[in-house]
Amino acid sequence: MALIASEVIVCPKCRLSKTRKNAVPGEGNSNGQIMLIGEGPGYWEDVKGRPFVGDAGKFLDALLAEIGFSKTSVFITNIVKCRPPRNREPLPDEIQACTPYLDRQMQTIQPKFIVTLGSHSTAYVFSKAGLPFSSITQAHGRLHETTIQDMRMTVFPTFHPAAALYNAKYKALLTKDFQLLRNELVKRGIVNRQSC
Ligand code: URA
Ligand code: SF4
Repeated sequence: MALIASEVIVCPKCRLSKTRKNAVPGEGNSNGQIMLIGEGPGYWEDVKGRPFVGDAGKFLDALLAEIGFSKTSVFITNIVKCRPPRNREPLPDEIQACTPYLDRQMQTIQPKFIVTLGSHSTAYVFSKAGLPFSSITQAHGRLHETTIQDMRMTVFPTFHPAAALYNAKYKALLTKDFQLLRNELVKRGIVNRQSC
């Protein structure tokens, strides 16, 4: 995992390398069972070189706390490791250039659960799993038992936490999705009932 991060930090493979302050490889527990995948670094992530440290990150902290986790018990990364200028969406060629890093991170962690945050990470992970994707509104909140890179795992898509900052509807939906996720993790003994 450290090797992947060291490559990401100096990566020149797409145009986002020209405008970033710092690449954000991802961080957290590389020996855990859960991986969260967001879209791309925002302003503060770019400044600090760390994932989900801005406002969306604070809301994510609260969601994780509700299910008995903190950011350090899961591994958190993004579909692109460098900030798209003005927080625009990542472009297909940037996603294509960057996702070999994500694939290697998945292979290293061998997660039991992947939680995809937002449409870009969901579309990418669904395509790896051979699952059809239409929209995050349709896909969110459902557990998919699947195989990615020969690893059996559960993929759970939900909205991007930044969406909740602008729209209370998404806040409610995200909260509900994380409760569903918590119930599943309790059922499987990955978190215990007392911790949440
Ligand atoms: N939004 C993301 O998708 N990723 C981050 O790391 C921060 C905000
Ligand atoms: Fe490299 Fe990914 Fe950054 Fe592009 S976004 S420069 S591929 S690390």
